[in-house]
Amino acid sequence: MEDTIPCFECDRDFPSAKPEELRPFADWIRSARNQGREMRILYGGAKGIYVHSNSEGLELRLPTVVWHGPHDPEPSLMIWEKLHWNEVDEVGLENLLAQALEARRQEFRRCRFCREEVPLEHRHDDRTCHGCAEKYLGVVH
Ligand SMILES: [Zn+2]
Repeated sequence: MEDTIPCFECDRDFPSAKPEELRPFADWIRSARNQGREMRILYGGAKGIYVHSNSEGLELRLPTVVWHGPHDPEPSLMIWEKLHWNEVDEVGLENLLAQALEARRQEFRRCRFCREEVPLEHRHDDRTCHGCAEKYLGVVH
């Protein structure tokens, strides 16, 4: 779950999504904007957010998976917010990033069996991951 993908444009990586990294990350988005550079990055890996920035605005997505079969998940992204720069400036870029990270954080719950922090897309219910639902609840996926 800790895999990260570096920026698709510049190869820079922000793997951890720690609060203290939010400022440099926001600065980096702003400098890309000022240079008219397009930027796409998964910030913080599977627990983070995907940011797509271009000259018009910012698109924020949350990681998820698409299930092609019971055991065939494909990583995917779900749109969380799409804003023009004037709207971003109203809210504040750091605020917006923090809100998106919080929204993603809230998708995680601890499995009552294996005690792992598991995101929405890998859970059977609020307290059980898919693996443990099969193992302990007899759920067949
Ligand atoms: Zn579990």
